[in-house]
Amino acid sequence: MDCLFCKIVNGDIPNNTVYEDDTVLAFYDIDPKAPVHVLVIPKQHLSGAAAVTADTAAVVGHIFEVIPQIAQKLGITDFRVVTNNGMDAGQTVGHLHFHILGGRTLGEMG
Ligand code: AMP
Ligand code: ZN
Repeated sequence: MDCLFCKIVNGDIPNNTVYEDDTVLAFYDIDPKAPVHVLVIPKQHLSGAAAVTADTAAVVGHIFEVIPQIAQKLGITDFRVVTNNGMDAGQTVGHLHFHILGGRTLGEMG
């Protein structure tokens, strides 16, 4: 499948890894929108938040289990977790990912 983040998971495209385990990869965003900007993705291809089902919800739970460890490693206590689903929401990569943003005061959403 022609998916950028699957290629990152497979090692075909390099990444700056922050955290990795059997189901999850976290790496620095190539175009950071905040002083700390990391993406957390499932290694399994899911197209976005709208594609999560009862069968795959556990991986999302696991992502939220490791986010505190990642934040601690990044040295941030205050952060925002965002996922964009669909073009109008700003999704540009069709593989589920959660942005961790921090390192500055974050403005309002929207
Ligand atoms: P979204 O717009 O929510 O789909 O987020 C996609 C994110 O992926 C953007 O913040 C991009 O800067 C980031 N991105 C795109 N290509 C790469 C890459 N090769 N390595 C790391 N981050 C990337
Ligand atoms: Zn993918």
